[in-house]
Amino acid sequence: MSKPRILVQLDTDDQPSVFDSVVAIDADVAHLLRHHGITPKNVVERVHGAIFTRGPDELRNTALFVGGSDVELGEQVLAAVQKAFIGPLRCSVMMDSNGANTTAAAAVLAAAKHLELSGLKATVLAATGPVGQRVAWLLARAGAEVRAASRTLPKAAKVAQALSAKSLSGRVIPCASSTPEELQAALADSALVVAAGAAGIELLPASALSAASQLKVAIDLNAVPPLGISSIKVTDKAAERDGRICYGAIGIGGAKMKIHKAAIQALFETNDRVLDAAEIYEIGRGL
Ligand code: NAP
Repeated sequence: MSKPRILVQLDTDDQPSVFDSVVAIDADVAHLLRHHGITPKNVVERVHGAIFTRGPDELRNTALFVGGSDVELGEQVLAAVQKAFIGPLRCSVMMDSNGANTTAAAAVLAAAKHLELSGLKATVLAATGPVGQRVAWLLARAGAEVRAASRTLPKAAKVAQALSAKSLSGRVIPCASSTPEELQAALADSALVVAAGAAGIELLPASALSAASQLKVAIDLNAVPPLGISSIKVTDKAAERDGRICYGAIGIGGAKMKIHKAAIQALFETNDRVLDAAEIYEIGRGL
């Protein structure tokens, strides 16, 4: 008889995320072990606790989930987790700090329902945040030419350089978007815009949206008023507005939840999966 499925939640915050715990339970995990205050240093002991308790053939029923609000720290913890594995003594691990990977995957998959990503011209507003960076990377990985926008060009350039260092079929071009003229130039050729700005910050006013004549799909990931794209409703899910397909943050949220749940379930297929942005996107593609 196979062992029950255990998910070890490794959260970098002071309290483990309730959201991540609920999704884990809804993904049919038998036991959820919730750890908080996780760092790249103290995670090693937790990983050893997970891998030294079941034989290699049973370790596919133990998995790890790295979460918390600090995405950079989550990336460091994910690296430390992989370093702590010992040969076949390992288990599958997923990283979704602040929901960045599942949200970005859901946004890009929504765009892909309406547009061919290879060769697509796209603009990601606030491409410097954890979600925006992942959206820009997933689009460029699929062959899109992505304008990565920020309030400041040096910040956009730094992100574009980092993303371009990974293997891409398309490319990432930095641009500024703080003045109306810069915003217009950033959107001029694009068929897709994804607004990935901080909660409660409007990035794209209605006038700038209507001036972007090539835009076919507009996606806003900010659910907190004022919304990132003012003329989109937060619940829009492929809603047609002025000849464009629009998604709001809640409209993207359903797919994000499905991807998150499916990724947790995929952790228990083998003991060697590492689910980061690309792998989570591929799981979403298969749904
Ligand atoms: P973030 O790090 O808080 O901010 C992203 C970018 O927004 C920043 O890099 C910055 O870009 C820009 N920004 C910050 N403050 C600003 C201001 N006052 N004015 C103009 N721009 C400002 O965001 P994130 O964590 O990547 O998340 C992106 C969005 O996705 C958020 O709205 C978040 O709530 C949402 N989200 C939704 C879910 C979900 O489950 N539905 C999950 C995760 C995130 P520049 O400095 O380069 O301009």
